Amino acid sequence: MATASCAPATNTPVEPTTPYAQLIDLIKQADLLGSTVSLLGWDQETMMPNQGLAFRSEQLAQLARLHHDQVTSPRIGEQLEACEADRALMADPRSVAAVNVRETRREYERATKLPADLVAELAKTTSLARHEWAEARRDSDFARFLPWLEKIVALTRRKAECFGWAPGGEPWDALAEDYEPSCTAAEVQSVFAPLRDRLGALISDLTASSTKPTNDFNERTLPIEQQERFVRFVSEQIGFDYSRGRLDRSTHPFCSGTHCHDVRLTTRFRDDNVLDALGSTMHESGHGIYEQGLPAEHIGTPMGRYISLGIHESQSRMWENQVGRSRAFWQWCHPKLAEYFGPAVGSFTLDEVYGAANIVRPDFIRVEADEATYNMHVMIRFEIERVLMTGELAPADLPGEWNAKYKEYLGLDVPDDRRGCLQDVHWSMGSIGYFPTYTLGNLYAAQFFDKALEDVPDLYQQFARGEFGALKTWLIENVHRHGRRYRAAELCEHVTGKPLTADPLMRHLERKLRPMYGL
Ligand code: ZN
Repeated sequence: MATASCAPATNTPVEPTTPYAQLIDLIKQADLLGSTVSLLGWDQETMMPNQGLAFRSEQLAQLARLHHDQVTSPRIGEQLEACEADRALMADPRSVAAVNVRETRREYERATKLPADLVAELAKTTSLARHEWAEARRDSDFARFLPWLEKIVALTRRKAECFGWAPGGEPWDALAEDYEPSCTAAEVQSVFAPLRDRLGALISDLTASSTKPTNDFNERTLPIEQQERFVRFVSEQIGFDYSRGRLDRSTHPFCSGTHCHDVRLTTRFRDDNVLDALGSTMHESGHGIYEQGLPAEHIGTPMGRYISLGIHESQSRMWENQVGRSRAFWQWCHPKLAEYFGPAVGSFTLDEVYGAANIVRPDFIRVEADEATYNMHVMIRFEIERVLMTGELAPADLPGEWNAKYKEYLGLDVPDDRRGCLQDVHWSMGSIGYFPTYTLGNLYAAQFFDKALEDVPDLYQQFARGEFGALKTWLIENVHRHGRRYRAAELCEHVTGKPLTADPLMRHLERKLRPMYGL
């Protein structure tokens, strides 16, 4: 079978003999199917004509069934048991084999714990609910979405019960395991609580200040073809390898990794917001650089897979924020603006562009939020989904709770549910436990970046010269090459020597934003 290895191809396939070799063979076969699903998903968002949707849904459903059969095959269970009994194989818990066995066991247990009728009901309900949500959002009609949300909450609570959670834990923990393995609501809360207080104080100081950067640069209309050439150039400069990837357009930017040698990014353009296109391209490039940095020889196994969504997000946010919103980056990038856009951008100074990239302004929509207020949007959703899962909050009371929290956290009066609790697709898809990974990503990014700066003290001077290779190398060495060897929290301790805290992110925001706002 095809593997990612660069070793010379052999024409005589060797039948795997040991249980471990058989296990690897089985999970790589499942991954061939899984990665094909993801490629069809990419095609659906970028290339597929609208009329192709019905047939594509059938293709995807068929592949999903086959994939589920493969990952829940009793043969995997048998090989896992044989591997786990092999003490020599499992002796070093950080060895490639032990990691692959441990993680395959975790995934196998989860996949086989859900009854088939619940899987089918969830799939059917969420595909219908997603459509209903889109209509409800368009009309700002929460009542239309409510019965669907009630069904989804009931089904996901059943799902959480099937998985179970540790003593002292809660249903949310069981659901988050799909996105952030081993991460509990209590742990998230212990990092989010101090972040919330400090961030709240910073945001109100910035909003109250009479000195503010101007957004004029970002309101300039610039042709989309020129924007596309520009963002492609930047993403290549920071290290996304176009011989192993592509950049296309989609409504919602994403990165879809089917293999480290075939990574698909998308971005979006608006003619009056070049910094949005740049930010989302650098963000997705960060995801793509992670996918391309995974060890080729382990692709198709847990050792060749990203750790968690939080760690994935740390990679995208670092390139978007720690790099792309730094003054050093703009020292290099500011002259490029004239090269790519000509006189249309000629009069803006370095500090005007740098300022426009760092404006902080509380607003209603999460996906349009700035680097600081973004985390408040996430914390609100985390608190709400937690109590939706315990039953303390009834779905019918969601808009009231949502609006109260926006008032409390961001000082905003939400005008309607379209700009309120109907804005995100996640809950309509049954993705509960997902939101915190965005802020965990910001926290991990800041803590990793501090360590990278300690190891490579002239990183900023390098950025100012347009050199980004040292940071990419640092990330490959410290994060990418490990695949799933560590859990997210373990990796953080291993790399930075400390557990995850809010300090590095707050330091990063305070040091940059206060001076820009004359504080
Ligand atoms: Zn992302």
